[in-house]
Amino acid sequence: MSPVQHHRDRRSPLVLEVHELGRSAGSTKVIHETVPAPADLGIEVIGVPQGSDIELDLKLEAVVEGILVTGTATVQLHGQCARCLDDIEDEASFDVQELFFYPGREVDEDESVVVDETIDLDETLRDAVVLELPFTPLCSEDCLGLCPECGFNRNHDPAHSHGDKIDPRWEGLSGLLGETTN
Ligand SMILES: [Zn+2]
Ligand SMILES: [Zn+2]
Repeated sequence: MSPVQHHRDRRSPLVLEVHELGRSAGSTKVIHETVPAPADLGIEVIGVPQGSDIELDLKLEAVVEGILVTGTATVQLHGQCARCLDDIEDEASFDVQELFFYPGREVDEDESVVVDETIDLDETLRDAVVLELPFTPLCSEDCLGLCPECGFNRNHDPAHSHGDKIDPRWEGLSGLLGETTN
């Protein structure tokens, strides 16, 4: 397989210039940048709102085969609790690690390459964030969920209850007992 040369949109905030790293192994560049989130960064139940701030704290390092990117991406998460259906607003950091191979080398389809002296973090970010998102997000570990009888959000009143159900056949009897003990 020969490397595919994608056309890069240099205006994308997730495309970073790496030409100043040259090809001298060991040279590094530190990125502290806030970029707007791309569309569809998430799964159905939780994700990163498009355009929200993503803080990139990355180290770009020239290695023999390419540019190694390591660090974290801190994102805003918006989702819905799987138990109580409340909104979840959260901030989370995800580890980023990706090697972008220099061009002119055979790469697999899922491997990243340096194109026109730029690297595109879009795919990297998706791998780092989306694959780590919970399929059943919770507003908190000990979310009490909804009352199975009336749908009340039990986090608002942990004591919420419908009382002990009394078998109607015993209700009359308890009344009877109440009378006799008086
Ligand atoms: Zn909840
Ligand atoms: Zn209830």
